[in-house]
Amino acid sequence: MSYLCSYNGCALVVSSQGHLIRHMDTHNQEQGMYSCQYCSYTARQRSNVKVHIQTVQ
Ligand SMILES: [Zn+2]
Ligand SMILES: [Zn+2]
Repeated sequence: MSYLCSYNGCALVVSSQGHLIRHMDTHNQEQGMYSCQYCSYTARQRSNVKVHIQTVQ
């Protein structure tokens, strides 16, 4: 039994549902990136965005 990643443009095939769930986490992390509300800046950590906003203003 193989599982296909349904994420847009990925189409990775893995052999178990556990692997697929773990793999999907990497996509979710990308979506969960924090972004600046004033420009297109993005960071993995909210504190980085805070510092960015403070340095830009
Ligand atoms: Zn994928
Ligand atoms: Zn910004």
